[in-house]
Parts: sequence; structure tokens; C-alpha cells
Amino acid sequence: MNNSNQTWKRTHYSKIIDTTTNGREVTIIGWISSIREHSNIKFLTVNDRFGSIQVILKKGEYPESLESEISKIKDHTAIAIKGKVRTEPKAPNGIELIPNDFRILSLANKNSPIVIQSRKGVGIDTRLDLRAVDLRRPYLQSIFNIRYTVLNSCREFLRQEGFIEVNTPKIIATATEGGATLFPIFYYDREAFLTQSPQLYKEQLTMAFENVFEIGPIFRAEPSRTNRHLSEATSIDVEKAYVDYNDVSEILERMILFLWNEIKDKNKSHLEYLKIQLPDLSFPFKRYTYSDLIEKLQRSGQSIEWGDDISQQKLSKVDDKDMKLFYFITDWPTSIKPFYVRPKPTGTECESFDLMYGDLELSSGSTRIHDKDELIERMKKQGLNIDAFDFHLKVFDYGMPPHAGFGLGLERLMMSMCGVDNIRDAVLFPRDIDRLSP
Ligand code: ATP
Ligand code: MG
Repeated sequence: MNNSNQTWKRTHYSKIIDTTTNGREVTIIGWISSIREHSNIKFLTVNDRFGSIQVILKKGEYPESLESEISKIKDHTAIAIKGKVRTEPKAPNGIELIPNDFRILSLANKNSPIVIQSRKGVGIDTRLDLRAVDLRRPYLQSIFNIRYTVLNSCREFLRQEGFIEVNTPKIIATATEGGATLFPIFYYDREAFLTQSPQLYKEQLTMAFENVFEIGPIFRAEPSRTNRHLSEATSIDVEKAYVDYNDVSEILERMILFLWNEIKDKNKSHLEYLKIQLPDLSFPFKRYTYSDLIEKLQRSGQSIEWGDDISQQKLSKVDDKDMKLFYFITDWPTSIKPFYVRPKPTGTECESFDLMYGDLELSSGSTRIHDKDELIERMKKQGLNIDAFDFHLKVFDYGMPPHAGFGLGLERLMMSMCGVDNIRDAVLFPRDIDRLSP
């Protein structure tokens, strides 16, 4: 091993080493994802952030002085290797590296319980307990690279549509989506809460900026253990002045289509690894009114009444080929939507939609009430304390524009795009009723 203190610099990432690099001296840096032994030969797979390369350690081909160091190497060890590239048809990318010197940068001293090459991996709790190591698995690498593309593409799309990105407080004084799922916190000598959504702030901001969006955390003390609820999730929130729910549902569906195409274009190798072929979307998405869907559910023999929420379980039993991918459910009963959603002239239904993917809810949106008296009336009907919302209501005295918007759950969207069946694998360090660390 080279003991000089001089830092070695990487000359090549694994992905640019190929048969055209044959014979070149290179320095690679990464971590060892597998060690296989075959009589006198050790095969190391060294990973960097773009891929991996096979390193071959054959007695007689590397300096004998490296021998004792080689015996210490375990999976996950961080290593820098100088060596010569050689074509080898049997190696994964048709090439391998013959080392002439290396440095162990950080030795792994335990055998990891995480199986790197496995798609499913070991049990989720074992994986989450050692999440940073789990995230080295190619399966999660693909998901989080796609998630990064989704975030970038969302910003790109909304910028093109004339929206400005905003950041609103996450520590708040009052509930926005109903009181049951709030996390209370100490705020100096008072009680405060973590925000359930940026709803009221994004609405207020339409006064000054017209079109705003925020990508940020939402906190919900979800009482149940499901595969689609987190206590801390990421919401893509959009709000636009002088439009209604039909207009923003069109923005949402164009955004989904844009993301879909961007992922297809920019994440080909990750989609291949995940064995996902994103289906062609038929556009515009189908729209079912809530009332039509209730009739459909009743016709299929399910016990559900107008006014009930439509559970995932009930939806999963509907046999309609147009409800396998994206579709909207519109015009929900006013009574089961939040106080800020604008009722239709009938009063019983409201100007609202949910975007669905199969039986998974991805987004809820609506036209909002912009008239102060109407808003107060709705709040009273829902039993809310008007005084607690004074900070919000008072801006409605100054020409609050008519506006509409939606909140789209990023992790739910990732589930739909990447076929992830547990939402915990769409977030780096998930929070749920049982888990607060790492
Ligand atoms: P659900 O009925 O599925 O619990 P919701 O109707 O309570 O969701 P909304 O208040 O409409 O949720 O929030 C908008 C979007 O934010 C949802 O459509 C969903 O994509 C996402 N979302 C809400 N709560 C959670 C959560 N606990 N975990 C992950 N995503 C969530
Ligand atoms: Mg909803």
C-alpha cells in the first residue's frame, strides 16, 4: 500500500472506462460492493456514483507488498486504486482493472446485513435502521435519481408556466387541514404546530405574486400504519390567481405528462434497472364526477352512500380500464372537503378534484373561497375557531383574488412512477408512527 499522505485524485469515473480506455493507467475511487474469490483470483466490484467496475486481483499480477492489505478488505470498504485497464469480454462492461497500487480510504469493519445486489433487500426495518448503507443499493439509487429528475422537472415546468417558487413557515399557530393530525411543539412559552400544508400561506401569496409554488415538507400525525402515509412527506403545492379548479387541473395533468416524458428521456438506465416501462398516457386524463363514481360503485354491489369518502379499498374493486393509470375524481361533496374549498352553486358539491393513479390518491385541488364572509360561514359549519384564523381572514379585506390550486404528494407520485409499493422507499429517512430515527 502507498503510505504517502498525498491525496489521490480520481482520474476516471467507472462509466467512462470502456474498451476504448484499454491499456490506460487510471485511478478509480469508490466503495466495494462485492468480493468474489475463485482459486487464486479475487474479483472486486468497485462502485462510484455513476456505476461500477471490476477489479481483478490475481497473484503475480499485483505487487506482493499489497498482499496483507488485500486480506483486510470487506464489502463497503472505501478504496482508491491505481491500475491498468484491460479488455475482458467476460467482465460486466467488457473491461477490468489490474491494480498496481491502492489505498484503503476507510475500512469496513463489520459485515453489513444489507444485501447490495438484491432488489427487495432484507426486511424493511433492518434496512431503515442502516438507511445510509441501504441507499447504496442500485434499486434505491435508481429511485432517488428519478426523484431528483422529478424535482428538477417540476421546477422547470412551473417556471415555464410563469410560477414563482416560495417558502412558507413550517412552524404555525393553527391547523390548516383540520385538527386531528397536527404535531404540537413547544414554541418559547406557547404551543405551536408543525404545518400540515402551506395552504393558507400560498393562498395569501396569490395577492402579491399571482402564481406561486412550493416544494416542501408537510407534517401529519397519521394514526395508522399504511404503505401510503408518512408523518413527514414532501408536497408540491401550486396556487394560481384568477383561475378555477378546471384550469389548475389542466396545469396538473400537463405537469404529469411533462414529468413522465422527462423521466423517459433522462432516466433510461434507471428505468431499465427497475424494469419499468412507463406506459403511454392517454391525454387529457379521464374525469369522473364523484356522483358518477358513487353510482358506479353502487352498481358493482359495494355499500357506499353519496357523501361518504371513497376508500382505496372500494376503488381497488372497480373494474374499469380507464381507472388503471391517471384520472380525476371531481365535484366532491362540500361536507368532506376542507373549509377553504369553494362550493358549487348547489352548495352540496364543491369545485374540487383528486388526481388518482389507480386506487392511489396523488393530489387534491380546488377553487378556493375568496370571499371573507363565505369563508367564515364555512369555517363555522366545520366547527373551527374563527378567532384562531384572524391572521388569515384579515387579508381577505383587501381584494383577495379568486384563485385555485392543488397539493401533489411527491412520494405518492414516485410510487406511481417507479412502482414502489411502500412509500417509505420513496423517501430517504422515513418518519412514521413507529419511527423517528435515523
Ligand atoms: P389521504 O386521504 O390519502 O390520507 P389526504 O386527502 O388527507 O390524503 P391531502 O390533504 O389532500 O391528503 O394532501 C394532498 C396530497 O398530499 C395527497 O393527495 C397526498 O398525495 C399527499 N399526502 C397527504 N398526506 C400524506 C401523508 N401522510 N403521507 C404522504 N403523502 C401525503
Ligand atoms: Mg386529499
